[in-house]
Amino acid sequence: MKQELRVRFAPSPTGPFHIGGARSALFNWLLARKEDGKLILRIEDTDLERSTRESEENIKASLRWLGIEWDEGIDVGGEYGPYRQTERLDTYRQYTQQLLDEGHAYHCYCTEEELDAERQAQMDKGENPLYSGRCRDLSQADRDRFIAEGRKPTVRFRVPGNQQIIFKDLVRDTVSFESNGVGDFVIVKSDGIPVYNYAVVLDDALMKITHVIRAEEHLSNTPRQILLYQALGLELPQFGHISLILGKDRTKMSKRHGATSVEQYKNLGYLPEGLVNFLALLGWSPVGEEEIFSQEELIREFSMDRVAKNPAVFDIDKLNHINAHYIKQASSELITELALPHLRTAGFIGEELTTEQHAWLVKVVAELQGYISYAAQITEHIDVFFNDDINFENEEAREIMKDPDIPVVMEAFKSKLAALEPVEPAAVQAILKGITKELKLGGKKVYMPVRIAITGKMHGPELINLVPLIGKERTLARMDCLIAKI
Ligand code: GLU
Repeated sequence: MKQELRVRFAPSPTGPFHIGGARSALFNWLLARKEDGKLILRIEDTDLERSTRESEENIKASLRWLGIEWDEGIDVGGEYGPYRQTERLDTYRQYTQQLLDEGHAYHCYCTEEELDAERQAQMDKGENPLYSGRCRDLSQADRDRFIAEGRKPTVRFRVPGNQQIIFKDLVRDTVSFESNGVGDFVIVKSDGIPVYNYAVVLDDALMKITHVIRAEEHLSNTPRQILLYQALGLELPQFGHISLILGKDRTKMSKRHGATSVEQYKNLGYLPEGLVNFLALLGWSPVGEEEIFSQEELIREFSMDRVAKNPAVFDIDKLNHINAHYIKQASSELITELALPHLRTAGFIGEELTTEQHAWLVKVVAELQGYISYAAQITEHIDVFFNDDINFENEEAREIMKDPDIPVVMEAFKSKLAALEPVEPAAVQAILKGITKELKLGGKKVYMPVRIAITGKMHGPELINLVPLIGKERTLARMDCLIAKI
């Protein structure tokens, strides 16, 4: 029987949930779904100073919003819990004792000051700073003396010398490191809390993780982890390190490049389908040219062997292009909902909307949905529905209105609209058509000037929908306002 694939996403809850983390979670999730495996969510909170429950909540909420559901782990439980590292300290302790008993680890009594001085001396000599192994073979008398001085030991792993650590990475192929370049490293701090490199090994092994798919920044941790697996006699998982995400200037993606957290994109009114689609393409390339993929298609198409070694570039224009596709497909009610806070901040609407105002707004949003990439962008296009003090957007628009045929077109439209009841798109269309026929003018001499008279602009939402949404009175008033400015 084929072994069940078990992957995990193991964030440290130390800040906003970064899109890089979301991409790692997504790749693991896609793999789990494709292979009928399990995704485990584990919280790596051994950095007590920086870890917060607030960040953990934010990560979980962001994952759920993206549609990345986990099968085991925090909140949902499972056979291999607990799934928060600070709740697993007893388990780590047992294995630490085993490592100490077998001589794979030892207590180190060096103080921070001593270690700093050692590092400094090595760097002054132009050497790589590596722990000298001073506490490797302490006598019982030395130990007793340090304990009597009140020193609290860390536990260090005894790195075997002269070994080549070679592994086959699912993304980077064969990777090798020399153990001599890895100094004996701390696995348990003096307060009894294990460090990431140690806890991660025990957890991945005990949770029966088969594939560790994570960001490239952990590649250099992998040799330490492999040495620990070997010392503990645990079976190695397969590793896959997915490449860094760079900004368009090819430096590491950071706040300078714009929004970096999932929540920021959510708040701007991006859709989870759009973000997931985009994140999937950050490092993975599908077989053909197609860029739009539903979650089902991604699950079907995704494979680790099409995950690239070279860095992925975060191209916001591509995200916007992809998200625009999903915005067009979404219901206007949803986009309205997402746009509301932005419309309030921009001052277009107040806190409360009547049912009629809301219904009107949904229709307005429906008109604009095709022009935006994310909901907050509605504020850049909606002015035309609110602002009745119309001005020419440029001289070209004013020139068009100076044509000698314009006054009669304006009069014709105004009088027909004044008589129209109810004002509906088809009826407005009929008026415009009627005018071109009666006055024997081309469409250009009618549609564009009427649009300019109502909006001041040469382009914008469908004219025949715009007029009913603005309403008869406001449309007529706007036309007078603009005609006076010719
Ligand atoms: N807690 C680590 C991080 O957030 C996870 C590393 C790993 O996946 O092994 O970077």
